[in-house]
Amino acid sequence: MTIGFPHVALPGGERIPKLGQGTWEMGERAARRADEIAALREGIALGMTLIDTAEMYGDGATEELVGEALRGLRDDVFLVSKAYPHNASESGVQRACEASLKRLGTDRIDLYLLHWRGSVPLDETVTGFEALVRAGKIRHWGVSNFDVDDMEELFAVRWGKGCATNQILYNVARRGPEFDLLPWCAQHHMPVMAYSPIDHARLPKHSPLDDIARARGVSVYQVAMAWVLNQPGVCAIPKASRIEHVRENRAALDIALSAEDLAALDAHFKPPRRKRPLEML
Ligand code: NAP
Repeated sequence: MTIGFPHVALPGGERIPKLGQGTWEMGERAARRADEIAALREGIALGMTLIDTAEMYGDGATEELVGEALRGLRDDVFLVSKAYPHNASESGVQRACEASLKRLGTDRIDLYLLHWRGSVPLDETVTGFEALVRAGKIRHWGVSNFDVDDMEELFAVRWGKGCATNQILYNVARRGPEFDLLPWCAQHHMPVMAYSPIDHARLPKHSPLDDIARARGVSVYQVAMAWVLNQPGVCAIPKASRIEHVRENRAALDIALSAEDLAALDAHFKPPRRKRPLEML
């Protein structure tokens, strides 16, 4: 990991960058391929060495693109991929992982997630994940789109407490997890990985984000990124296939929102006062 770059710690103490890069919708258009690879490599050069992908993205084409982008850089990166729920049986995750490794052109995935919860019992998935850890194919495992009740169930199965993170939809416009899921994860010393940190570029048109952005000479997306990055125990994986977006996202790490900025955002994007079911994209 780049020295001096902000980080969060996994439950075992390993540090991962607080700001990484997503890859959903990359690798799907030949005409964009070179730009997408250049964007990912620029992000890595800027310290955003946490790279998130999934077997689902582009039906495997995204993992292939990530593999190409990581050529010569694999050891600099903390690589995350995800298995489909329909591949989440004990043998299914092992087959899915082998296929991902092949597409990614690597011998190990640093963090392997169950993409969302399906019908396979969690103990089967965890048993498969643990076998992959023992075989050196993955270094850590975790989950995605798990609400508090799912996390409780996970922790009740054998080896379930070995979960390294929960990757969830979390941004300034979707603050539901603050009510119970973020505190639950903090209590269990587990970082949360915020996906769609700028809400898939669909942030509301008029909000205090505009005033803060104008006053600081940055974009509303950078203010929204800075807000997520301000949350303790949270890392974020914005996806940017344009190199200028990558640079702006990196620059958002250096935006220190003031107490007034945060109060204005709280007044508009109200923190939850009761349980809201976890949303997903
Ligand atoms: P996002 O990162 O919130 O937004 C991506 C969109 O924002 C793209 O259209 C991108 O455009 C644009 N963008 C990025 N940086 C920008 C900037 N500085 N200024 C203006 N626009 C900017 O949404 P996301 O892709 O849904 O989420 C991020 C990653 O999280 C995904 O790629 C994926 O790896 C992961 N994810 C996981 C799940 C899950 O179920 N676990 C679900 C959704 C996403 P360009 O590409 O044109 O630069």
